[in-house]
Parts: sequence; structure tokens; C-alpha cells
Amino acid sequence: MAKSPEVKLAVFGRAGVGKSALVVRLLTRRFIWEYDPTLESTYRHQANIDDEVVTMEILDTAGQEDVQQKESHMRWGDGFVIVYDITDRGSFEEVAPLRSLLEEVKKPKNVPLVLVGNKSDLEHVRQVGTEEGERLAAEMACAFYECSACANEGGTVAEAFHELCREVRRR
Ligand code: GDP
Ligand code: MG
Repeated sequence: MAKSPEVKLAVFGRAGVGKSALVVRLLTRRFIWEYDPTLESTYRHQANIDDEVVTMEILDTAGQEDVQQKESHMRWGDGFVIVYDITDRGSFEEVAPLRSLLEEVKKPKNVPLVLVGNKSDLEHVRQVGTEEGERLAAEMACAFYECSACANEGGTVAEAFHELCREVRRR
């Protein structure tokens, strides 16, 4: 039997945007309100994607790393989820610099990436418009998802990770 493919995914974004909540949602289909914000963990997760079992190794970064640590996480990963919080404009402004660092570390390779705007359940305190996220993703030539780790309507969280796996496997 052919060995099932393995992809290494790293999740980046400012502390507090919901990286851990998204990863826990993907793994358990549950939402856990409080997660140690300084915790950095890796998880293994299997999913059936387009009739193929894919094993994801997922690095949930803390979001407070210095540049050296970020670079080493970037060298480790095959694909990247960059998360911002739609209620925190500052977190959105951190996306482009992260992308630049990724390009720098991975060059000349093209970096498989998805952009996620999290906390879409908090519409009433939104600071970043959906169109702004779409525009940024278009500039970065990557897929874009708005989602909520706590509501997860339509299974968007898994969809984002699965699309990233496809993107990695296409390269
Ligand atoms: P991390 O630092 O990026 O790993 O962020 P966490 O996963 O620890 O989440 C930070 C805070 O945001 C916690 O209080 C979570 O409960 C909350 N949170 C995470 N995702 C969502 C979401 O989709 N909606 C709402 N309302 N809160 C969220
Ligand atoms: Mg975390």
C-alpha cells in the first residue's frame, strides 16, 4: 500500500487571533474558549481529501516568536495558514510582513499559503472588511476564508486547511 502523503503546516498570526482555537476546532470539531496563549504545539491530524488520506502535521505557533524562531518555523513548514482577527486591524496589518518573511525564507520557491480572517461571529465589532481580506489574498495569490473557530458555519475551518493541503500537493 502506498504511504499516505504527509504535509507540514504552520499556523502564523498575531497572538490572540485564534490560531489555537482554529487548530483545536479542526482536530476536535469543538471550540475551547481559553487556551494558553504562550503554548506552542504540534498536532497530527488525518483527513480524507479528494479520496486520499492525507496526514497533516500542524504547528500552532504562539505568535510571539522572535524573527529567528519564525524563520525556523517557516523553514520547517511546507504550507502556511496566516490568520488575522477581523476585529483587530493591527493583526491584519501584520499579515503582509509575515508573507514577506515567508517569501524571503522560502525563495526561490513559491509558498503554498491560505489567508484566514477569524472571529467572523463578531460582526458587530468588525474592523476589517471582507473585501479588504479578499484584496490582500488576491495580491498574495492565495485562497481566502473568513471563518469563526467558535461558530464554524459550513465547516469553513476544515475547508481552509484542506485547500492548503491541496495547494501543497500541487507543488
Ligand atoms: P492564539 O493566540 O492565536 O492561539 O489565539 P487563541 O486561540 O488562544 O484565542 C484567543 C482568544 O480569542 C480566546 O479568548 C478565544 O476564546 C478567542 N477566540 C478564538 N477564536 C474565536 C472566534 O472565532 N470567535 C470568538 N468570538 N472568539 C474567538
Ligand atoms: Mg495559541
